[in-house]
Amino acid sequence: MRVSSYPLVDADVAASVVLEHTPVLRSERVHLVECPGRVLAEDLVASAPLPAFPSSAVDGYALRAADAGESLRVVGESAAGRPFDHPVEPGTAIRILTGGVLPSGADCVVMMEDVQLSGEVVTVPASLKAGQNFHAPGADLRAGERVLPAGAQLGAAEIGLAAALGVAELRVGRRPRVALLSTGDELVEVGKTPGRGQIPDSNRWALLAALREAGAEVRLLGIGPDEPEALRRLVVEALAEADVLVTSGGVSVGTHDLIKPLLESLGDVHVGRVKLKPGKPFTFATLRDGKIAFGLPGFPVSSLVTFEVFVRPALRKMQRHSQLQRPTLPVRLGYEARATADRTEYQRVTLTREGGELVASSTGSQSSSRLMSLAGAHALVRIPPGDRGMGKGSIAEAMILALP
Ligand code: AMP
Ligand code: MG
Repeated sequence: MRVSSYPLVDADVAASVVLEHTPVLRSERVHLVECPGRVLAEDLVASAPLPAFPSSAVDGYALRAADAGESLRVVGESAAGRPFDHPVEPGTAIRILTGGVLPSGADCVVMMEDVQLSGEVVTVPASLKAGQNFHAPGADLRAGERVLPAGAQLGAAEIGLAAALGVAELRVGRRPRVALLSTGDELVEVGKTPGRGQIPDSNRWALLAALREAGAEVRLLGIGPDEPEALRRLVVEALAEADVLVTSGGVSVGTHDLIKPLLESLGDVHVGRVKLKPGKPFTFATLRDGKIAFGLPGFPVSSLVTFEVFVRPALRKMQRHSQLQRPTLPVRLGYEARATADRTEYQRVTLTREGGELVASSTGSQSSSRLMSLAGAHALVRIPPGDRGMGKGSIAEAMILALP
Protein backbone atom coordinates (compact mmCIF):
# COMPACT_ATOMS: atom_id res chain seq x y z
CA MET A 1 0.00 0.00 0.00
CA ARG A 2 1.27 3.47 -0.87
CA VAL A 3 1.66 6.07 1.82
CA SER A 4 -0.25 9.27 1.08
CA SER A 5 1.92 12.26 0.33
CA TYR A 6 -0.77 14.65 1.54
CA PRO A 7 -0.25 16.23 4.94
CA LEU A 8 -2.90 15.54 7.56
CA VAL A 9 -4.72 18.83 7.99
CA ASP A 10 -6.53 19.81 11.20
CA ALA A 11 -10.31 19.50 10.70
CA ASP A 12 -11.05 23.17 11.46
CA VAL A 13 -8.19 24.34 9.27
CA ALA A 14 -9.50 22.17 6.43
CA ALA A 15 -12.98 23.65 6.86
CA SER A 16 -11.65 27.20 6.59
CA VAL A 17 -9.45 26.32 3.59
CA VAL A 18 -12.59 25.01 1.85
CA LEU A 19 -14.57 28.16 2.59
CA GLU A 20 -11.70 30.45 1.61
CA HIS A 21 -11.61 28.87 -1.84
CA THR A 22 -15.37 28.66 -2.31
CA PRO A 23 -16.77 31.35 -4.62
CA VAL A 24 -20.01 33.24 -4.06
CA LEU A 25 -22.23 32.68 -7.10
CA ARG A 26 -23.88 35.55 -8.93
CA SER A 27 -27.39 36.53 -8.00
CA GLU A 28 -30.55 36.33 -10.07
CA ARG A 29 -34.07 37.72 -9.89
CA VAL A 30 -36.69 35.04 -9.52
CA HIS A 31 -40.43 35.02 -9.04
CA LEU A 32 -41.78 34.12 -5.59
CA VAL A 33 -42.82 30.73 -6.96
CA GLU A 34 -39.10 29.87 -7.18
CA CYS A 35 -38.17 31.38 -3.82
CA PRO A 36 -38.72 28.71 -1.15
CA GLY A 37 -35.35 27.81 0.34
CA ARG A 38 -33.44 30.42 -1.66
CA VAL A 39 -31.23 33.10 -0.08
CA LEU A 40 -31.81 36.86 -0.42
CA ALA A 41 -28.96 38.58 -2.28
CA GLU A 42 -29.97 42.12 -1.25
CA ASP A 43 -31.87 43.69 1.62
CA LEU A 44 -35.63 43.71 1.19
CA VAL A 45 -36.85 47.21 2.10
CA ALA A 46 -40.50 48.16 2.52
CA SER A 47 -41.37 50.65 -0.23
CA ALA A 48 -44.72 51.36 1.41
CA PRO A 49 -46.10 51.01 4.93
CA LEU A 50 -47.80 47.81 6.02
CA PRO A 51 -50.70 47.91 6.38
CA ALA A 52 -51.02 50.56 3.69
CA PHE A 53 -54.35 51.86 5.07
CA PRO A 54 -56.10 51.73 8.47
CA SER A 55 -57.65 48.29 8.39
CA SER A 56 -60.30 46.90 10.70
CA ALA A 57 -59.19 43.96 12.89
CA VAL A 58 -62.76 42.79 13.60
CA ASP A 59 -66.34 42.84 12.34
CA GLY A 60 -68.20 45.74 13.97
CA TYR A 61 -68.82 49.47 13.66
CA ALA A 62 -66.44 52.30 12.82
CA LEU A 63 -67.14 55.53 14.68
CA ARG A 64 -65.68 58.41 16.66
CA ALA A 65 -64.55 57.52 20.20
CA ALA A 66 -66.11 60.87 21.21
CA ASP A 67 -69.51 59.23 20.55
CA ALA A 68 -68.97 56.57 23.27
CA GLY A 69 -72.18 55.58 25.06
CA GLU A 70 -74.43 57.10 22.36
CA SER A 71 -76.98 55.63 19.99
CA LEU A 72 -75.69 56.18 16.46
CA ARG A 73 -77.28 56.04 13.04
CA VAL A 74 -75.67 53.40 10.78
CA VAL A 75 -75.20 55.18 7.44
CA GLY A 76 -73.06 52.82 5.38
CA GLU A 77 -70.71 49.88 5.17
CA SER A 78 -66.99 49.34 4.63
CA ALA A 79 -66.30 45.74 3.64
CA ALA A 80 -62.90 44.23 2.75
CA GLY A 81 -62.04 45.59 -0.69
CA ARG A 82 -65.18 47.81 -0.78
CA PRO A 83 -64.44 51.00 1.20
CA PHE A 84 -67.01 53.55 2.35
CA ASP A 85 -66.00 56.77 0.67
CA HIS A 86 -67.45 59.49 2.92
CA PRO A 87 -66.24 60.84 6.25
CA VAL A 88 -68.00 59.60 9.40
CA GLU A 89 -70.03 62.46 10.89
CA PRO A 90 -70.67 62.90 14.63
CA GLY A 91 -73.63 60.77 15.74
CA THR A 92 -73.18 58.18 12.97
CA ALA A 93 -71.45 54.85 12.57
CA ILE A 94 -70.37 52.68 9.63
CA ARG A 95 -70.74 48.92 9.60
CA ILE A 96 -67.22 47.60 9.03
CA LEU A 97 -65.92 44.11 8.29
CA THR A 98 -62.50 42.63 9.04
CA GLY A 99 -59.97 44.03 6.57
CA GLY A 100 -62.27 46.95 5.61
CA VAL A 101 -60.78 50.46 5.40
CA LEU A 102 -61.48 52.63 8.46
CA PRO A 103 -63.34 55.61 6.94
CA SER A 104 -61.98 59.10 7.53
CA GLY A 105 -63.48 60.77 10.59
CA ALA A 106 -63.67 57.44 12.46
CA ASP A 107 -60.97 56.75 15.05
CA CYS A 108 -62.04 53.41 16.50
CA VAL A 109 -63.94 50.21 15.79
CA VAL A 110 -66.30 48.56 18.24
CA MET A 111 -66.88 44.84 17.97
CA MET A 112 -70.22 43.51 16.77
CA GLU A 113 -70.59 41.57 20.04
CA ASP A 114 -70.29 44.75 22.13
CA VAL A 115 -73.16 46.79 20.64
CA GLN A 116 -76.93 46.74 20.71
CA LEU A 117 -78.54 47.03 17.33
CA SER A 118 -82.10 48.13 16.76
CA GLY A 119 -83.01 48.65 13.12
CA GLU A 120 -80.52 51.16 11.73
CA VAL A 121 -79.47 52.46 15.15
CA VAL A 122 -76.55 51.06 17.10
CA THR A 123 -75.89 51.76 20.79
CA VAL A 124 -72.19 51.59 21.61
CA PRO A 125 -70.44 51.08 24.99
CA ALA A 126 -69.52 54.04 27.19
CA SER A 127 -65.84 53.17 27.30
CA LEU A 128 -64.23 53.41 23.88
CA LYS A 129 -60.67 54.30 23.09
CA ALA A 130 -59.43 55.98 19.94
CA GLY A 131 -57.24 53.52 18.01
CA GLN A 132 -58.96 50.36 19.18
CA ASN A 133 -59.66 47.37 16.95
CA PHE A 134 -57.96 48.56 13.80
CA HIS A 135 -54.42 48.26 12.43
CA ALA A 136 -52.90 51.69 11.84
CA PRO A 137 -50.97 52.27 8.59
CA GLY A 138 -47.33 51.27 9.13
CA ALA A 139 -48.13 49.40 12.37
CA ASP A 140 -46.41 46.28 11.01
CA LEU A 141 -43.77 47.97 8.82
CA ARG A 142 -42.91 51.59 8.17
CA ALA A 143 -42.01 52.69 4.63
CA GLY A 144 -38.24 52.51 4.21
CA GLU A 145 -37.81 49.94 6.99
CA ARG A 146 -35.50 46.98 6.29
CA VAL A 147 -37.73 43.93 6.21
CA LEU A 148 -35.14 41.19 5.62
CA PRO A 149 -31.36 41.39 5.39
CA ALA A 150 -29.30 40.05 2.50
CA GLY A 151 -28.21 36.52 3.41
CA ALA A 152 -31.57 35.54 4.91
CA GLN A 153 -33.03 32.24 3.82
CA LEU A 154 -36.52 32.52 2.41
CA GLY A 155 -39.14 30.46 4.19
CA ALA A 156 -42.89 30.78 4.37
CA ALA A 157 -43.06 33.95 6.49
CA GLU A 158 -40.31 35.75 4.53
CA ILE A 159 -41.96 34.97 1.20
CA GLY A 160 -45.34 36.00 2.61
CA LEU A 161 -43.86 39.35 3.67
CA ALA A 162 -42.47 40.04 0.21
CA ALA A 163 -45.85 39.26 -1.31
CA ALA A 164 -47.67 41.42 1.27
CA LEU A 165 -45.43 44.31 0.19
CA GLY A 166 -46.40 43.70 -3.43
CA VAL A 167 -42.97 42.38 -4.42
CA ALA A 168 -43.36 39.55 -6.96
CA GLU A 169 -39.66 38.91 -7.66
CA LEU A 170 -36.68 38.77 -5.36
CA ARG A 171 -32.96 38.90 -6.03
CA VAL A 172 -31.51 35.66 -4.66
CA GLY A 173 -28.26 33.71 -4.86
CA ARG A 174 -28.01 31.29 -7.74
CA ARG A 175 -28.29 27.63 -6.83
CA PRO A 176 -24.99 25.75 -7.21
CA ARG A 177 -25.05 23.23 -10.05
CA VAL A 178 -23.46 20.09 -8.70
CA ALA A 179 -22.27 17.09 -10.72
CA LEU A 180 -22.41 14.00 -8.53
CA LEU A 181 -20.33 10.93 -9.29
CA SER A 182 -19.95 7.62 -7.48
CA THR A 183 -16.78 5.67 -8.16
CA GLY A 184 -15.96 2.02 -7.69
CA ASP A 185 -16.06 -1.13 -9.79
CA GLU A 186 -17.99 -2.87 -7.01
CA LEU A 187 -21.00 -0.57 -7.42
CA VAL A 188 -24.22 -1.50 -9.21
CA GLU A 189 -27.35 0.51 -9.87
CA VAL A 190 -29.76 0.30 -6.96
CA GLY A 191 -32.52 -2.16 -7.83
CA LYS A 192 -30.23 -4.42 -9.86
CA THR A 193 -29.21 -7.66 -8.21
CA PRO A 194 -25.57 -7.31 -7.12
CA GLY A 195 -23.18 -9.98 -8.36
CA ARG A 196 -20.57 -11.54 -6.13
CA GLY A 197 -18.59 -8.76 -4.40
CA GLN A 198 -20.90 -6.05 -5.68
CA ILE A 199 -22.98 -3.58 -3.67
CA PRO A 200 -25.68 -1.06 -4.62
CA ASP A 201 -24.49 2.52 -5.16
CA SER A 202 -26.12 3.93 -2.05
CA ASN A 203 -23.98 7.07 -1.72
CA ARG A 204 -25.51 8.54 -4.86
CA TRP A 205 -28.95 8.64 -3.33
CA ALA A 206 -27.81 9.70 0.12
CA LEU A 207 -25.73 12.54 -1.32
CA LEU A 208 -28.46 13.54 -3.77
CA ALA A 209 -30.80 14.00 -0.80
CA ALA A 210 -28.18 15.97 1.15
CA LEU A 211 -27.33 18.17 -1.85
CA ARG A 212 -30.95 18.95 -2.69
CA GLU A 213 -31.66 19.78 0.92
CA ALA A 214 -28.69 22.16 0.84
CA GLY A 215 -30.15 23.98 -2.18
CA ALA A 216 -28.08 22.47 -5.00
CA GLU A 217 -29.24 21.56 -8.50
CA VAL A 218 -27.85 18.10 -9.00
CA ARG A 219 -26.79 16.35 -12.16
CA LEU A 220 -26.31 12.63 -11.59
CA LEU A 221 -23.29 11.23 -13.40
CA GLY A 222 -23.93 7.71 -12.17
CA ILE A 223 -21.15 5.22 -11.48
CA GLY A 224 -17.64 5.98 -12.69
CA PRO A 225 -15.27 3.05 -13.25
CA ASP A 226 -11.95 2.61 -11.46
CA GLU A 227 -10.16 3.51 -14.69
CA PRO A 228 -8.35 6.86 -14.96
CA GLU A 229 -9.09 7.83 -18.57
CA ALA A 230 -12.79 6.95 -18.50
CA LEU A 231 -13.17 8.75 -15.20
CA ARG A 232 -11.40 11.80 -16.53
CA ARG A 233 -13.61 12.01 -19.63
CA LEU A 234 -16.76 11.76 -17.54
CA VAL A 235 -15.64 14.47 -15.12
CA VAL A 236 -14.31 16.90 -17.73
CA GLU A 237 -17.52 16.67 -19.72
CA ALA A 238 -19.68 17.18 -16.63
CA LEU A 239 -17.68 20.19 -15.44
CA ALA A 240 -18.64 22.15 -18.52
CA GLU A 241 -22.11 22.49 -16.98
CA ALA A 242 -21.34 22.44 -13.25
CA ASP A 243 -20.03 24.74 -10.53
CA VAL A 244 -19.13 21.90 -8.20
CA LEU A 245 -17.99 18.31 -8.59
CA VAL A 246 -18.81 15.91 -5.77
CA THR A 247 -17.45 12.39 -5.94
CA SER A 248 -17.60 9.54 -3.48
CA GLY A 249 -15.04 6.76 -3.17
CA GLY A 250 -11.60 6.50 -4.63
CA VAL A 251 -9.80 8.90 -2.32
CA SER A 252 -7.92 6.60 0.04
CA VAL A 253 -4.45 5.25 -0.64
CA GLY A 254 -5.31 1.91 -2.26
CA THR A 255 -4.27 1.38 -5.86
CA HIS A 256 -7.75 2.00 -7.22
CA ASP A 257 -7.99 5.41 -5.65
CA LEU A 258 -7.97 7.66 -8.63
CA ILE A 259 -9.70 10.83 -7.55
CA LYS A 260 -6.75 12.71 -6.08
CA PRO A 261 -4.52 12.29 -9.17
CA LEU A 262 -7.47 13.25 -11.38
CA LEU A 263 -8.12 16.45 -9.40
CA GLU A 264 -4.37 17.20 -9.41
CA SER A 265 -4.44 17.08 -13.19
CA LEU A 266 -7.49 19.38 -13.38
CA GLY A 267 -6.54 21.97 -10.75
CA ASP A 268 -5.06 22.32 -7.27
CA VAL A 269 -5.66 19.93 -4.40
CA HIS A 270 -5.71 21.99 -1.20
CA VAL A 271 -6.76 19.28 1.22
CA GLY A 272 -5.92 15.61 0.71
CA ARG A 273 -6.20 14.18 4.22
CA VAL A 274 -7.89 15.50 7.36
CA LYS A 275 -7.50 14.79 11.05
CA LEU A 276 -11.14 13.79 11.15
CA LYS A 277 -13.05 10.65 12.04
CA PRO A 278 -14.87 9.55 10.05
CA GLY A 279 -13.55 11.12 6.85
CA LYS A 280 -9.76 11.09 6.95
CA PRO A 281 -9.29 10.85 3.14
CA PHE A 282 -11.56 13.86 2.42
CA THR A 283 -10.18 15.79 -0.55
CA PHE A 284 -10.84 19.32 -1.73
CA ALA A 285 -9.60 20.98 -4.92
CA THR A 286 -10.10 24.16 -6.89
CA LEU A 287 -10.48 23.71 -10.62
CA ARG A 288 -10.48 26.10 -13.56
CA ASP A 289 -13.07 28.91 -13.87
CA GLY A 290 -13.76 29.15 -10.15
CA LYS A 291 -15.13 25.61 -9.94
CA ILE A 292 -14.48 23.45 -6.91
CA ALA A 293 -14.37 19.72 -6.27
CA PHE A 294 -15.03 17.58 -3.22
CA GLY A 295 -13.67 14.06 -3.16
CA LEU A 296 -15.68 12.41 -0.40
CA PRO A 297 -14.68 9.06 1.09
CA GLY A 298 -16.55 5.98 -0.09
CA PHE A 299 -17.76 4.72 3.27
CA PRO A 300 -21.37 5.84 3.52
CA VAL A 301 -21.12 7.51 6.93
CA SER A 302 -17.80 9.15 6.05
CA SER A 303 -19.29 10.65 2.90
CA LEU A 304 -22.27 12.12 4.78
CA VAL A 305 -20.28 13.40 7.75
CA THR A 306 -17.73 15.11 5.49
CA PHE A 307 -20.69 16.49 3.55
CA GLU A 308 -21.97 18.11 6.77
CA VAL A 309 -18.58 19.38 7.88
CA PHE A 310 -17.27 20.69 4.55
CA VAL A 311 -19.73 20.61 1.66
CA ARG A 312 -22.90 22.05 3.18
CA PRO A 313 -21.20 25.23 4.49
CA ALA A 314 -19.57 25.73 1.07
CA LEU A 315 -22.91 25.36 -0.74
CA ARG A 316 -24.42 27.87 1.65
CA LYS A 317 -21.62 30.33 1.00
CA MET A 318 -22.13 29.94 -2.77
CA GLN A 319 -25.81 30.81 -2.31
CA ARG A 320 -24.97 33.85 -0.14
CA HIS A 321 -26.24 32.52 3.17
CA SER A 322 -25.26 34.66 6.14
CA GLN A 323 -25.30 31.55 8.34
CA LEU A 324 -22.91 28.93 6.94
CA GLN A 325 -22.87 26.44 9.80
CA ARG A 326 -25.59 24.30 11.23
CA PRO A 327 -26.53 25.41 14.72
CA THR A 328 -24.52 23.92 17.58
CA LEU A 329 -25.65 23.39 21.16
CA PRO A 330 -23.93 22.13 24.29
CA VAL A 331 -25.13 18.63 25.22
CA ARG A 332 -24.40 16.39 28.19
CA LEU A 333 -22.88 13.07 27.22
CA GLY A 334 -25.00 10.18 28.43
CA TYR A 335 -22.23 7.78 27.46
CA GLU A 336 -18.47 7.41 27.69
CA ALA A 337 -17.05 8.93 24.49
CA ARG A 338 -13.71 7.43 23.65
CA ALA A 339 -11.48 9.72 21.60
CA THR A 340 -9.13 9.13 18.74
CA ALA A 341 -5.59 10.17 19.56
CA ASP A 342 -4.95 12.55 16.68
CA ARG A 343 -8.32 13.24 15.05
CA THR A 344 -11.45 15.25 15.78
CA GLU A 345 -14.28 12.78 15.90
CA TYR A 346 -17.93 13.40 15.08
CA GLN A 347 -20.02 10.82 16.88
CA ARG A 348 -23.63 10.25 15.92
CA VAL A 349 -26.10 10.60 18.76
CA THR A 350 -29.77 10.87 19.58
CA LEU A 351 -30.85 13.55 22.04
CA THR A 352 -33.39 13.59 24.84
CA ARG A 353 -34.46 16.51 27.02
CA GLU A 354 -33.78 15.95 30.68
CA GLY A 355 -34.41 18.76 33.18
CA GLY A 356 -33.67 21.58 30.75
CA GLU A 357 -30.62 19.85 29.28
CA LEU A 358 -30.03 17.91 26.12
CA VAL A 359 -28.56 14.51 26.86
CA ALA A 360 -26.76 12.60 24.10
CA SER A 361 -26.91 8.83 23.65
CA SER A 362 -24.70 7.05 21.15
CA THR A 363 -26.45 5.53 18.14
CA GLY A 364 -24.35 2.39 18.66
CA SER A 365 -21.35 1.18 16.69
CA GLN A 366 -19.74 4.20 15.05
CA SER A 367 -18.29 2.22 12.16
CA SER A 368 -17.99 4.40 9.06
CA SER A 369 -19.79 1.80 6.99
CA ARG A 370 -22.76 1.63 9.35
CA LEU A 371 -25.42 4.03 8.07
CA MET A 372 -27.62 2.96 10.97
CA SER A 373 -25.37 5.14 13.14
CA LEU A 374 -26.61 8.18 11.23
CA ALA A 375 -30.21 7.25 10.44
CA GLY A 376 -32.43 9.05 12.93
CA ALA A 377 -29.45 10.77 14.61
CA HIS A 378 -30.25 14.18 16.09
CA ALA A 379 -26.70 15.48 16.18
CA LEU A 380 -23.02 14.97 15.52
CA VAL A 381 -21.15 15.34 18.78
CA ARG A 382 -17.69 16.74 18.44
CA ILE A 383 -15.03 14.87 20.42
CA PRO A 384 -11.70 16.68 20.34
CA PRO A 385 -8.56 14.62 19.68
CA GLY A 386 -6.78 13.28 22.74
CA ASP A 387 -5.93 10.22 24.77
CA ARG A 388 -8.76 10.22 27.20
CA GLY A 389 -11.85 11.29 25.29
CA MET A 390 -14.82 12.70 27.14
CA GLY A 391 -16.33 11.05 30.17
CA LYS A 392 -19.99 10.27 30.65
CA GLY A 393 -21.64 13.41 32.09
CA SER A 394 -19.29 15.90 30.47
CA ILE A 395 -20.50 18.69 28.19
CA ALA A 396 -19.72 18.44 24.47
CA GLU A 397 -20.55 20.57 21.46
CA ALA A 398 -23.17 19.07 19.15
CA MET A 399 -23.89 19.99 15.54
CA ILE A 400 -27.67 19.79 15.45
CA LEU A 401 -29.27 17.86 12.57
CA ALA A 402 -32.78 17.77 14.06
CA LEU A 403 -33.99 18.49 17.56
CA PRO A 404 -36.06 15.81 19.29
P1 AMP B 1 -13.20 3.71 -1.33
O1 AMP B 1 -13.13 5.07 -0.70
O2 AMP B 1 -13.46 3.74 -2.79
O3 AMP B 1 -12.01 2.88 -0.97
O4 AMP B 1 -14.45 3.00 -0.68
C1 AMP B 1 -14.50 2.73 0.70
C2 AMP B 1 -15.68 1.83 1.02
O5 AMP B 1 -16.89 2.50 0.68
C3 AMP B 1 -15.71 0.53 0.24
O6 AMP B 1 -16.17 -0.49 1.07
C4 AMP B 1 -16.70 0.81 -0.88
O7 AMP B 1 -17.31 -0.35 -1.35
C5 AMP B 1 -17.69 1.71 -0.19
N1 AMP B 1 -18.33 2.56 -1.17
C6 AMP B 1 -17.70 3.33 -2.08
N2 AMP B 1 -18.58 3.97 -2.87
C7 AMP B 1 -19.81 3.65 -2.43
C8 AMP B 1 -21.12 3.98 -2.84
N3 AMP B 1 -21.33 4.81 -3.86
N4 AMP B 1 -22.16 3.45 -2.16
C9 AMP B 1 -21.94 2.61 -1.13
N5 AMP B 1 -20.72 2.25 -0.70
C10 AMP B 1 -19.66 2.74 -1.34
MG1 MG C 1 -13.36 2.54 -4.39
